[in-house]
Amino acid sequence: MSDISHFINGKRVQGSSGRGGDVFNPATGEKVRRVAFASAADVDSAVKAAAAAFPGWAATPPLTRARILFKFLEILAREHDALARVISEEHGKVFSDAQGEITRGVEVVEFACGIPHLLKGEFTEQVGRGIDSWSVRQPLGVCAGITPFNFPAMVPMWMFPMAIATGNTFILKPSERDPSAGLRIAELLAEAGLPPGVFNVVNGDKEAVDAILQHPGIAAVSFVGSTAIAEYIYTTAAAVGKRVQALGGAKNHMVVMPDADLDQATDALMGAAYGAAGERCMAVSVAVAVGGVGDRLMDKLVPRVRALKIGPGTDPEAEMGPLVTKQHYDKVRSYIDLGVKEGAKLVVDGRGLKLQGYENGFFMGGSVFDDVKPDMRIYKEEIFGPVLSVMRADTFDEATKLASEHEYGNGVAIFTRDGDAAREFASRVQIGMVGVNVPIPVPMAFHSFGGWKRSLFGDMAVYGTEGVRFYTRLKTVTARWPTGIRAGAEYVMPTMR
Ligand code: NAD
Repeated sequence: MSDISHFINGKRVQGSSGRGGDVFNPATGEKVRRVAFASAADVDSAVKAAAAAFPGWAATPPLTRARILFKFLEILAREHDALARVISEEHGKVFSDAQGEITRGVEVVEFACGIPHLLKGEFTEQVGRGIDSWSVRQPLGVCAGITPFNFPAMVPMWMFPMAIATGNTFILKPSERDPSAGLRIAELLAEAGLPPGVFNVVNGDKEAVDAILQHPGIAAVSFVGSTAIAEYIYTTAAAVGKRVQALGGAKNHMVVMPDADLDQATDALMGAAYGAAGERCMAVSVAVAVGGVGDRLMDKLVPRVRALKIGPGTDPEAEMGPLVTKQHYDKVRSYIDLGVKEGAKLVVDGRGLKLQGYENGFFMGGSVFDDVKPDMRIYKEEIFGPVLSVMRADTFDEATKLASEHEYGNGVAIFTRDGDAAREFASRVQIGMVGVNVPIPVPMAFHSFGGWKRSLFGDMAVYGTEGVRFYTRLKTVTARWPTGIRAGAEYVMPTMR
């Protein structure tokens, strides 16, 4: 028996595979739960439940759908801290950070509550004599979301509020490393009055994902995770005719101009590089110091990194928790080893940190590399840990080019007091989300989130109006009533007069 099962057609279901995985508390290194892994048959029963629920849900007035989401918001407010505790326990991030992640997810639910307005179509009276035309957006059917470990509540909430508000039914495949939040969200949606089958959860690994990608009953797939898997999801699902948006990894640069407020820039770097132990897709992992500001920046930064307060997520004083798993810890550590071999200067070394009472936890201290060069693997690849690379650029142009030429294009920031430089940077840089004196420019729910290049495969970003477009398709009706003008049979291409 697994503690964390699936949620299909309004109830918890154990599934048929007999397979499962362990879920750890990263602060103690202990196994805390076991999660069931879905087989293709389990995925199929989720699709059948979602497909059966679809016609009734699609026909439900958007206002009625929105009212269920309003109720869900009330329940989320009640459960906010309980959900944050579960996330902190399985992910390792500090409690206040887990609370923040839920708030950012709630904002998308709030946006989705406006769906009656967002779904208003377009109408033209008299496109021709006695002829009217209107366009509406209709739901796609059963949609699936496959999500990463680093935001076990927020990333699913980037997807399902928009999908179900627009009239689709949904299957969530959460990360197998911290799956409790997804299951809890399913129960809270049911409590809010969502009909059975509209939102389902299948837990699992590659077997469940492949079953989703190949299932003919699924119309669209949203994915967030690492780039290699995002590309696989995009090419596999698109090849069988599904609509896909697949968000991948990142290497986000923060450009520090010589005129920047260095205290502000240092604060920003600390939070953006080390918050959530660097396990954020919008984390800053590269600082580019322009025109000789590098040494002054390092003087401010290095003591702060050495003084980082590291502890379990339950410690209210902790600024940074452990990494998510032992396997991920080993990967991040091997990148630090690699950086040393590649010749970068390891100014602060976070390897070897041990916390008293948490000797088996996956804790790592903050690390800083200086003199990182563009051809090094620690620069080219995503590390996804508390490791900051500092680079030096002589000019604004050089820094802008560096950020623009990286294969990832998720987020970027510039710190400066010069409005002209900031404007030029925002306009020119080849990155999807740009911050000006804002280190983590995650767009609010009423804008949309999406990177460029190998950070997003597909055409549409998530949530906001892009989310409405992704989860709907356009239908345009052209209508004439029998009492209108009679032209007789027309054998030429119809033109409106
Ligand atoms: P991951 O790619 O390992 O896993 C993501 C999902 O894919 C999980 O549900 C997992 O079960 C599934 N998966 C893993 N391997 C698979 C395989 N071989 N075949 C099919 N499915 C597979 O990502 P992760 O480690 O959970 O999350 C961290 C990554 O997510 C980082 O690269 C981070 O940058 C990225 N991320 C990106 C964004 C964004 O908005 N661009 C947001 C959050 C996280």
